[in-house]
Amino acid sequence: MTRWGMVIDTDRCTGCGACVVACHAENNIQTVGEEEAGRGRAMHWIRIERYYEGEFPDIKVRFQPVMCQQCGHAPCEPVCPVYATYHTPEGLNAMVYARCIGTRYCANNCPYTVRFFNWFSPEFPQPLERQLNPSVSVRSAGIMEKCTFCVQRIHDAQDVAKDEEREVRDGEVRTACSQSCPAEAIVFGDLDDPDSRVSELGERARAMHLLEELSTEPSVIYLRGGR
Ligand code: SF4
Repeated sequence: MTRWGMVIDTDRCTGCGACVVACHAENNIQTVGEEEAGRGRAMHWIRIERYYEGEFPDIKVRFQPVMCQQCGHAPCEPVCPVYATYHTPEGLNAMVYARCIGTRYCANNCPYTVRFFNWFSPEFPQPLERQLNPSVSVRSAGIMEKCTFCVQRIHDAQDVAKDEEREVRDGEVRTACSQSCPAEAIVFGDLDDPDSRVSELGERARAMHLLEELSTEPSVIYLRGGR
């Protein structure tokens, strides 16, 4: 069995934001503009959190990319009245947009605040519609959306592997954020494969989960910064 997971090395992250831009491009995420962002309606499936260490002028800034943690015990799943969010056999916390009725119970129950209510029906006037990824739907107003580890890329790789009568190889699937990171801070793979790179990195002493005390069993592992 596969359990898709991610390791993020906070020692490598420089906070450049390339992963955020890549995620927007890959997943047809709209940009809402300054005014709507000021109303708390900004939409980024991955965000870069900043933390400061020390006192001025000896301050160090640390960066922590945060997206849906694809929890093994996901607090968002049992509160959805229409089963629009559910757990896949491969450990993904999936979203069925066509089911969602926008109650936002899931977002209120997510301790990582990585679910976003879509307040808008985005428009992509010509020629901007050409930037859209045809493998990903364009969501309309009234539904929740969030990161699903670029599930369309996972399915593409699985289709190719099936045609070639083999398993998906370690490193064959790269999420948009992982692919675009110039520091190679984000590694994606199968946590159930003991020989995968994510499994090897996840065993390191610096490994941790966000809000471990909640026992959500995230599939995203962070490597603590130590510089
Ligand atoms: S692209 Fe890499 S280095 Fe840049 S903010 Fe994202 S994780 Fe950090």
